[in-house]
Amino acid sequence: MERKQTLIVGGGIGGLATALALSQATGRSVHVLERSTEFGEIGAGLQLAPNATRILDRLGVLTEISGYAVHPDRLVWMDALREQKITEIDLGATFREHFGHPYIVMHRNDLLSVLLDACRRNKSITLETDRHVEWVEDVGDGARLGCADGTAYETEILIGADGLRSKVRGSVSSDEPVCAEYVAYRGTMPMSQMSTHAGLDNVVMWVGPDMHFVQYPVRRGELYNQVAVFRSKRYTPDSDDWGTVEEFDAHFAQTCDYVQSCAKLMWRDRRWPMYDREPILGWTHNRIALLGDAAHAMLQYIAQGACQAIEDAGCLAKCIAEGEADIPAALVRYQTLRAHQAARVQITARAMGKFFHLAGAEAEVRNTLMGLRSPSDYSHLDWLYGERKAAN
Ligand SMILES: Cc1cc2nc3c(=O)[nH]c(=O)nc-3n(C[C@H](O)[C@H](O)[C@H](O)COP(=O)(O)OP(=O)(O)OC[C@H]3O[C@@H](n4cnc5c(N)ncnc54)[C@H](O)[C@@H]3O)c2cc1C
Repeated sequence: MERKQTLIVGGGIGGLATALALSQATGRSVHVLERSTEFGEIGAGLQLAPNATRILDRLGVLTEISGYAVHPDRLVWMDALREQKITEIDLGATFREHFGHPYIVMHRNDLLSVLLDACRRNKSITLETDRHVEWVEDVGDGARLGCADGTAYETEILIGADGLRSKVRGSVSSDEPVCAEYVAYRGTMPMSQMSTHAGLDNVVMWVGPDMHFVQYPVRRGELYNQVAVFRSKRYTPDSDDWGTVEEFDAHFAQTCDYVQSCAKLMWRDRRWPMYDREPILGWTHNRIALLGDAAHAMLQYIAQGACQAIEDAGCLAKCIAEGEADIPAALVRYQTLRAHQAARVQITARAMGKFFHLAGAEAEVRNTLMGLRSPSDYSHLDWLYGERKAAN
């Protein structure tokens, strides 16, 4: 059995960002195992806030990423029933000056390909696809793991970046994903199919009773990304027959004409049931550590899952670089610096979901209160987007 210095399970955004960060900060060799036959992302758009773009800049990939991204002017909240603006966040020069880094939106595959190319150029990183990890074992001075095809590995450090249904998570916790009873439909279309009504340079978030709808441009403005999310009344834990196209149509029939016309353009052949995890504060066991969705899967309502995974990557690399002499202690330091923050983000995402999906008088109170804030008041975002020196 070949012994690796550092092994990462999962070649998604979290796994590849970590491979890059670790090899750059520590000089360690890093091996990535991905179960799919090719590296790639399912889904379409991704919002990246300054807490992520700051780390991507340090990894030396932000300039290349910016070549594919869009820098939106504003994040606009709209009432999906009344077609009225609730509030907006100015994402322009004042925002960039405040946080030191930009808010960008892009196609997921564009981000993954930039990370993948950077990993391929790095001689300390090796990548293997078609390796579905089935078991993981702690062996004190390292870990062993085995794949569905019988291949097995031993490693000094094992990082579980294997997503919501992480196999590696079983080494530190026995919990299961939690279903939100909401479902998302998402996809992109050529910009030419969209009308200019909503301001195509912005991130627009339409909110309504038990539903929301997100729109923004990706890939240098050539494509437009839309995500439609709603609560399914047909949800039961034992069936997949919920969140159907009929329910989609019923939910969106209550929205304003503009949202209805945009929702009609959505792909309907695939849906994503929404899951997260209960926050846990223990992410490590000896020389095994969790990262990204494997550590803190969250609802996407504040667009932070990938951002948090990228923050994990930077923090983990820093902790290992500073603590090579005692790897279990370095992993505990990473956990201490990251787990409370990620738990707060998970809980905030759930709370924001409830806030988006209010109806009637409660929605009116929300709209009135949100309408009072100034577009360049970032005080409620500092804890999330601001630099946390010890952890970054
Ligand atoms: C609708 C929607 C919109 C979102 N929008 C945003 C957004 O705007 N901004 C944002 O920051 N986040 C967003 N997120 C969240 C974000 O997509 C995830 O948090 C992020 O992709 C997690 O990255 P990861 O690398 O940790 O996990 P994943 O992306 O799940 O990657 C895990 C990888 O591990 C591999 N793998 C899994 N099991 C095994 C195994 N046993 N063996 C080997 N390989 C394995 C998988 O194939 C995969 O490649 C959104 C999520 C959804 C559902």
